[in-house]
Amino acid sequence: MSTSTTSTTPPQAVLTPYITTSQINARLDTLADELNADYAGQSVVLVSVLKGSFMFLADLIRRLTFDCTVEFVRLASYEGTSSTGSVKPVDLSLPVLKDKHVLIIEDIVDTGLTLNMFLEYLKSVHQPASIKIAVFLDKKAARQHAITPHFVGFDIQDQFVVGYGLDADGRYRNLPEVCILEQPSGS
Ligand code: 5GP
Repeated sequence: MSTSTTSTTPPQAVLTPYITTSQINARLDTLADELNADYAGQSVVLVSVLKGSFMFLADLIRRLTFDCTVEFVRLASYEGTSSTGSVKPVDLSLPVLKDKHVLIIEDIVDTGLTLNMFLEYLKSVHQPASIKIAVFLDKKAARQHAITPHFVGFDIQDQFVVGYGLDADGRYRNLPEVCILEQPSGS
């Protein structure tokens, strides 16, 4: 595994390639197969959690063959490279989801706080027929809330990653691969 800095790297931050674009594409093919088998013949509302899941959603949805619509919510729990410990519902506007099959599309599960809060919200306010979770990355070692995604792109180590939609203070979302970000202490 090589270490690299890119033109989007702030001074002293180091990006180490972790999951390549070809690994991502291969996994998306098999993940879509799992979803297509699970949801065959059903109508599903994909609820994408912004901002980090936009690239995962865009690449996944074009591989899906069942009937689906897309909605977006915006939740925030991170500042810099650590969780604030609380979830800010920036935008929860959704249509009526009662009796619908809902598939949450999320970039990464870390402590599980965000999805825990969102699941409780969906269940109590919307009462869908079913709710499942598809995450691009699962950081199981960091889990503090009992969240088990139904569909996982990659299990990853407890390290801070960026790229493929994931950011650090808004940067790096444009990277086509997933990289580990190391920042100098104090930044
Ligand atoms: P949780 O609530 O599960 O602790 O964290 C979920 C959110 O934290 C994710 O949607 C993402 O925004 C952010 N997050 C957690 N781990 C990482 C990481 O390694 N990299 C980035 N860029 N964001 C992360």
